[in-house]
Amino acid sequence: MDRNTGTAHDELRSVAFIGLGIMGGPMAANLVRAGYQVIGHNRSRAAVDRLVEAGGRAAGSVAEAVADADAVITMLPADTEVTEVVLGEGGVLEHARVGSLLIDMSTISPRTATALAEAGREHGVRVLDAPVSGGEAGAVEAVLSIMAGGDAADFEQAAPLFHALGTTVVHVGPHGAGQTVKAANQLIVAVNIQALAEAVVFLEKAGADLPAALTVLGGGLAGSTALNRKKDSMTARDFTPGFRIDLHHKDLGIVTDTARDIGAVLPTGSLVAQLLASCRANGDGGLDHSALLRGVERLSGRART
Ligand code: NAD
Repeated sequence: MDRNTGTAHDELRSVAFIGLGIMGGPMAANLVRAGYQVIGHNRSRAAVDRLVEAGGRAAGSVAEAVADADAVITMLPADTEVTEVVLGEGGVLEHARVGSLLIDMSTISPRTATALAEAGREHGVRVLDAPVSGGEAGAVEAVLSIMAGGDAADFEQAAPLFHALGTTVVHVGPHGAGQTVKAANQLIVAVNIQALAEAVVFLEKAGADLPAALTVLGGGLAGSTALNRKKDSMTARDFTPGFRIDLHHKDLGIVTDTARDIGAVLPTGSLVAQLLASCRANGDGGLDHSALLRGVERLSGRART
């Protein structure tokens, strides 16, 4: 392949992976396992060392990571970090090869995703927004849902890489569309977990057998992936993240901002956004989003420390 004129039909072999946290760490390791040459960079060094143990290479800077890569994946907390790493001084667009493909898999606003694609075009770097759903377990087991926005040819080129990370991989539209679909995903998941939390407090206060109740509920119309994945940890009050309240709060900010822009009215989503904000205000921002349960307990006079 001509390294300076990569086209949408070339195979992606070398991948720079920036952001090796709860999600990025196992995703990068899965790419190594699938045969990609992965070079990783992360703000804290321990995460890079774990990638090296898994068979990847370490980069001390964004510039070093992206310089020779066919594809660059970012898996960073939020808009601010993605913008800084991609557009900032010493960032991805300053150092990535012309013709390379930037795939942002973080959850950020559709508007920022569109702006990144525009900036990429100016630098000759193709861009996809490809956020994921499925949580830490989905990342570890390589069974993520991946919703991609951008040019169809770029999606086709990245499809084998996506299939090394997930099982449901869908091109959902132009730049920003992946983030729009992800925002809807976060709305559904938050409302789902809040309903589950309310059911847990309701069942416990009524003196029901909670494990038996959640088992039978999981088999009916009330069943959901959220219920099946969270019922044991919620019963045990184990709120180790997982997906932090802080990040879900950020995501419902994206949902409510976007809804206001487009004139969509989301009363339940707005309420759950407030309940997530309350969890943060009560010091629970670092806990898993299933700690919405602690908020319901506070409201029901069952607060624990
Ligand atoms: P995380 O905080 O565990 O990981 C983010 C990583 O980025 C950290 O290791 C951090 O050190 C690194 N980082 C931050 N700023 C950096 C910078 N400037 N340069 C280099 N590295 C930097 O977060 P996570 O849970 O892995 O989530 C990542 C993204 O994926 C978020 O947008 C989140 O909303 C989304 N997401 C998370 C989950 C989940 O279940 N955790 C599921 C789906 C999507």
